[in-house]
Amino acid sequence: MSTPIRVLSLAAEAAPFVKIGGLGDVAGALPAALRALPTPVDVRLVLPLHNVIDQSQFEFEPVASFTIPHVDGELIAEAFRTTVRGVPVYTISGVPIISSPTVYSSDAGMDGAKFTFFSLAALELARTLQWRPHIVHAHDWHTAPAIHALATTREEDEFFRETATLLTVHNLPYLGVGAGGCLAEFGLPPAPDSPLPYWAENLPLPLGLLAADHINTVSQGYAAEILTSEFGAGLDEFLKTRANSITGILNGLDLEVWNPQTDQKIKIRYAKGAFKKREENKAALLEEVELTADPERPLLGVITRMDHQKGLDLIPNALRDLAGQAWQAVILGTGDPDLEDAARRLDAEFPNVRAIIRYDDGLARRIYAGSDMLLIPSRYEPCGLTQMIAMRYGCVPVARATGGLRDTIIDYHAEEGEGRKRSTGFLFEEANPKELGQTICRALKVYQDKRRWRGLQHRGMKRNFSWERSAEKYLEVYQELIR
Ligand code: ADP
Repeated sequence: MSTPIRVLSLAAEAAPFVKIGGLGDVAGALPAALRALPTPVDVRLVLPLHNVIDQSQFEFEPVASFTIPHVDGELIAEAFRTTVRGVPVYTISGVPIISSPTVYSSDAGMDGAKFTFFSLAALELARTLQWRPHIVHAHDWHTAPAIHALATTREEDEFFRETATLLTVHNLPYLGVGAGGCLAEFGLPPAPDSPLPYWAENLPLPLGLLAADHINTVSQGYAAEILTSEFGAGLDEFLKTRANSITGILNGLDLEVWNPQTDQKIKIRYAKGAFKKREENKAALLEEVELTADPERPLLGVITRMDHQKGLDLIPNALRDLAGQAWQAVILGTGDPDLEDAARRLDAEFPNVRAIIRYDDGLARRIYAGSDMLLIPSRYEPCGLTQMIAMRYGCVPVARATGGLRDTIIDYHAEEGEGRKRSTGFLFEEANPKELGQTICRALKVYQDKRRWRGLQHRGMKRNFSWERSAEKYLEVYQELIR
């Protein structure tokens, strides 16, 4: 193809504008990686102009104004443009976006209206600009309505007739429950006579999964897992009918954003193998979080959204099983109030545990740079970025063997053998406190052998999680879709 492939990428969040979790990392980094390929993709990113975006940090230029039909009358949408790392980025504003104070909320109606409005406005923006995408690439339930909308109108719509759709699933169980009514208010029909289960006929993500020309998840492991009842969120039987159109592409890591050699938020910047400097970061972190300055004691880190998915509730009993051993722990996260309380209680119970209940990018970076292990006991993990960041910063992951965690961490086998020479962390199979505790115990033992531990750290730091390979795979999917 002589002209570059044009991709309209739609996401609820993207770094550096707004980031709540891994979706923000990915939606921010992938377009730049696609533009940097030897066959560059003309990808343009569209985001809601959330209230939490600090507009003073970016130069947003107004580019278009148009309306979106709604049962209560036409809603005005305004679009702005800026460029970040060579990627044209459009933000969209309008009443459903302005009236929502946070990126995500517990009010399904508010989120449903905001994201349905946004999805339709993103398509309308392309038409207004007369920029006809070959591919509309949506991420998760928030932007799946765009794919559903295209599928229902594409045949009669000359502008979008040739446009193909890709839906990337970053987190399957977030289906957009409660948003069904909003779809109807914006004129999007349910799918009553489809292979979807009846309860999913009017939900954004299932409708997107039904309509998308191709579906991918963010690791190969998770792509296989969602076809099972354990991980399928009730859609596994339906997803099996689409199995030929589902693939897995592992997320990359933004190596500029996550780089211990240039990270401005850590105390001492360091390269691979500079373990002495890393120890200084550990000492600084212990001081910052007011834990005992005992560098010999392994420091366990946790950085997470506090959600049932992340298996945080397994940690208290696992740590209690280790009460007789030397270790300290620092837990950083926010989310579910019950899990936040459980973390606070752990902090009160153990003098060697600090729980810090907030979102703090700088502290997260200092934990990656200063702790010895990162605990990731997820019940499911579509890809997971924290284990990749940890490895890049020389922090050894101790994780549940699921989804992207299994795909990216090589377990340190207990016995001698070839596997050990490649290993980068510790994995356990079942999501229960006992197995987590035993696996931390396994890691604590290896930690005593400095040479072996450094080997683990070193191999992790050498892993290449760059976006380049993943971007090439997305390009292959786009090319295939166009064919
Ligand atoms: P998910 O997207 O499911 O939350 P990921 O592992 O894919 O999980 O990505 C999590 C991202 O959010 C990482 O960049 C991690 O460092 C960051 N993060 C999570 N919790 C916090 C927090 N409390 N403070 C700072 N960063 C956090």
